[in-house]
Amino acid sequence: MRKRIVAGNWKMYKTVPEATELAAAIAAAAPKDGAGEIVVCPPFTNLTAVAEAIKGSVVRLGAQNMHWEEKGAFTGEIAADMLKSAGCQYVILGHSERRQYFGETDAMVNKKIKRALTAGLNPIVCVGETLDQRKAGITESVVGDQVRGCFADIGAEQAKTLVIAYEPVWAIGTGVTATSEQAQEVHHFIRALLAELYSESVAQTVRIQYGGSMKPDNAAQLLAQPDIDGGLIGGASLDAKSFLQIVTA
Ligand code: PEP
Repeated sequence: MRKRIVAGNWKMYKTVPEATELAAAIAAAAPKDGAGEIVVCPPFTNLTAVAEAIKGSVVRLGAQNMHWEEKGAFTGEIAADMLKSAGCQYVILGHSERRQYFGETDAMVNKKIKRALTAGLNPIVCVGETLDQRKAGITESVVGDQVRGCFADIGAEQAKTLVIAYEPVWAIGTGVTATSEQAQEVHHFIRALLAELYSESVAQTVRIQYGGSMKPDNAAQLLAQPDIDGGLIGGASLDAKSFLQIVTA
């Protein structure tokens, strides 16, 4: 039985005081039944304050990106060990906004995954097709190539620890959500691909989140699908009430 995981991607929102307030509100009201994992991923500048605000609660800390090198002269970048020492357990890698605006490729994401695993961080690896790719009927080949590229040379035991976020690019921040059937279809495809690349045991262990305009009113239906193990939430995670409604769903 895979443990559900709901993560909030706060993107480039919230100052330190705002982030502290939001994190404290989520921590205070988060369900303590242990049925699923709850992760918040604030901007780098807020990690330490948020770590403090969620201390002693069930909420876990994640980051939104990192560099693949261990350390060095990479001005403006953040290393895996720095995230780990700030209290992070998770890191989002290969988000479509990183791919679209910062030129991230599957090869770069693959290097980041390897570094994150070495540092003891759990990657949340994002994949997903654009609207043009979906219209052209190449969703599975696009997502398949992303999974193959990101998972290259990752062993089975390590692969089991990864979380995949299937995020159709056309659904991110648009208010347009994939139907639960559309999402389930791609999640099932990804799981079958993991079985082909690794084994049935790896495929059944890896958690696959859906992301793309998940909101309190559509979360339950999406999360009822057999291959959807949680959500990566953008906009709706910036409000404690709506994020927690999704967690409850
Ligand atoms: C995201 O940024 O990963 C995301 C899913 O955003 P939103 O929920 O706003 O579509």
